[in-house]
Amino acid sequence: MNEKEILLEVRHLHKDYGNGPVLKDISLEVHKGEVVVIIGPSGCGKSTLLRCMNGLEPIQSGEILLDGKVITDSKTKWSEIRQKIGMVFQSYDLFPHMTVMDNILLGPMKAQGRAKKEVTQEAETLLSRVGLLEKRDAYPRQLSGGQKQRVAIVRALIMKPEIMLFDEVTAALDPEMVREVLDVMLELAREGSTMMIVTHEMQFARAVADRIVFLDEGLIAESDTPENFFTQPRTDRAKRFLNTFIFTK
Ligand code: ADP
Ligand code: MG
Repeated sequence: MNEKEILLEVRHLHKDYGNGPVLKDISLEVHKGEVVVIIGPSGCGKSTLLRCMNGLEPIQSGEILLDGKVITDSKTKWSEIRQKIGMVFQSYDLFPHMTVMDNILLGPMKAQGRAKKEVTQEAETLLSRVGLLEKRDAYPRQLSGGQKQRVAIVRALIMKPEIMLFDEVTAALDPEMVREVLDVMLELAREGSTMMIVTHEMQFARAVADRIVFLDEGLIAESDTPENFFTQPRTDRAKRFLNTFIFTK
């Protein structure tokens, strides 16, 4: 993995919302084709880290680079960067008054000025890959949570991002719908997509990750292979965290 090119790099990132540090000197690299899974207790800064990478939060110091170029300076056009860094959140924020297809077409047509016909074909291909082609003309309210989340993933993928960020995308789903969404992410990983995933699904984390980053109180406490992290965590904090999950399956 080391010889592969670095796609995204965070250097000495500090983030503070105004009442104390939230991210303290975070440095990490994501290589092309790598799947990095971020885990850690609630409130440790996982969402903040992803949001900083997508320009949704200003940072106090440090820098973030995409393809070797600094993106955390005042010249950055975030509307362009966000086409390269796709993000899917816990709440599938599809536009309720638009069909599945129109939700998907909006970004590539408006932000990238692409032709409707070409994008529609791509959207159909992606929708069938996530098993939802027959829902192309449905409205979000007619979909289950798992289906909405799969549409949200397609909506991000159609922009052809270089890296995808996923922030607890299954956390709001009923248990029976979690699998169908995780399977889509596993499939993307198998195809070589570069991804950063925040999840509390530990078995999925172990299966999908090339590397696990364990965040604790705004610091990277561990960064290791899933095998090492799950079988021999080095810090007490990680041990305690893992003990709160019951591995039954
Ligand atoms: P996680 O995703 O790991 O649960 P977050 O990144 O959401 O953690 O939050 C990290 C810390 O930053 C928490 O203490 C949280 O209360 C705080 N925080 C998150 N968002 C904001 C915000 N918009 N304003 C102020 N504090 C925030
Ligand atoms: Mg969070």
